[in-house]
Amino acid sequence: MTQFAIETPPVVTLPVAGQDTLFPVRRVYCIGRNYAAHAIEMGHDPDREDPFFFQKNPNNLDTSGTFPYPPHTSDVHHEAEMLVALKTGGTNIPVEKALDHVFGYGLSLDMTRRDLQGIAKKAGRPWEIGKAFEQSAPCGPLLPASEIGHPDAGRVELKVNGEIRQEGDLNQMIWKVPEMISYLSEYFELAPGDVILSGTPSGVGPVSKGDTMELSIEGLGNLIVTVS
Ligand code: MN
Repeated sequence: MTQFAIETPPVVTLPVAGQDTLFPVRRVYCIGRNYAAHAIEMGHDPDREDPFFFQKNPNNLDTSGTFPYPPHTSDVHHEAEMLVALKTGGTNIPVEKALDHVFGYGLSLDMTRRDLQGIAKKAGRPWEIGKAFEQSAPCGPLLPASEIGHPDAGRVELKVNGEIRQEGDLNQMIWKVPEMISYLSEYFELAPGDVILSGTPSGVGPVSKGDTMELSIEGLGNLIVTVS
């Protein structure tokens, strides 16, 4: 039998609410500027140009409820997002068939070292240093679509220390969930375990050590994460 040359990295998983099963994560795609009001606050035209995606690493997902303030930044922002988890994949998936591939949905935060992302943007460099750091995507458990359906509307809210910072509605997404899946599948081969962070409404802003973030999305419950 062939042995691994080094210790094998653990499989990254998300818990499934109400079940004794775990969802194994393969890839993490994140859409940029998917709510018009957020595109405007970041200084961009909200017109429906082609979507764009960046990636986080699977092991950036974290369900501990704690977000350690990362190094080399003094401007870490919260971005409240709905996470979409795929049970099947493929290429060239038509929009009308896209939701058949969804396992479920969850709450997530696309935490961002905004200062480092800004430097990268200005220099025309990739965004990973601002986006794909350790524990940069706090997440909650997945809610299976077989139980909750496919949410396409509902209030999205993020509070920091009890004060509302982000407000929006899933129905304000520029690119809807089936469109994101279809678009990604034209450029990548999607597979079971892939997840998509579906973008954030306006109101992104900084957090500090000791803050408590509370994300809620109508129909998906809430997620509380403390900055340590
Ligand atoms: Mn985001």
